[in-house]
Amino acid sequence: MLPQLVKLKGMALSLLFPQWCIGCGADGSLICYSCRVSLPRITPAICPMCGRPQPSGMICPGCVNWRAEIDGIRSPFRFDGVVRQAVHQLKYRNLRALAAPLAELLDDYMRTSPVPGDVLVPVPLHRKRLRERGYNQSGLLARELGRLAHLPVVDDCLFREQYTPPQARTSNVDERRSNVVGVFTCRDDRLRGNKVLLIDDVSTSGATLDACAAALKAAGAISVWGLVLAREI
Ligand SMILES: [Zn+2]
Ligand SMILES: [Zn+2]
Repeated sequence: MLPQLVKLKGMALSLLFPQWCIGCGADGSLICYSCRVSLPRITPAICPMCGRPQPSGMICPGCVNWRAEIDGIRSPFRFDGVVRQAVHQLKYRNLRALAAPLAELLDDYMRTSPVPGDVLVPVPLHRKRLRERGYNQSGLLARELGRLAHLPVVDDCLFREQYTPPQARTSNVDERRSNVVGVFTCRDDRLRGNKVLLIDDVSTSGATLDACAAALKAAGAISVWGLVLAREI
């Protein structure tokens, strides 16, 4: 196509689908350059298990006695500021177009801080929640990330069998962790022998990722790591 036509097409598209930054309102993209560089990044040192900031770089107190199935959790960002707004828009405001720029941020992170995994599996929603929302935000992130990182995505093997109460209502980490035990099942053994990288938008206690990991390992996965966009600290 001629450059002028490409430009015209771009202008027409931006008229049809105007984009402005969810952080500052600037015209042009969903997360503008200046908001992107000031996102609340989690930088080393971190706990090698849960990936939360930990000045010593050693296992944090919260993970010492955690008999986890998940091999580790990593997250580029704290659940704060523009990242919090982005997750909210992606999840509750049906702004599905945000999945692409957010997956780019995950891909950038993986290039500098590789996380083990040869197949991406999004944390599933219960089918009732999926019906209500119409899409799984983690599934959107996984699909976009799979495209960027050239990794296959399997989103029809791991299922959430129980409708769990929102995590915010339960008070402590132990409660949250026991809340999701046995909630997930793998319905076939397609992931046997694979190194699975679970994808989710936000993680609080890591309980959901851990419960997914238990189901995946029961179905033969060799290792299961979690990569979440944002971490509640
Ligand atoms: Zn901005
Ligand atoms: Zn930890």
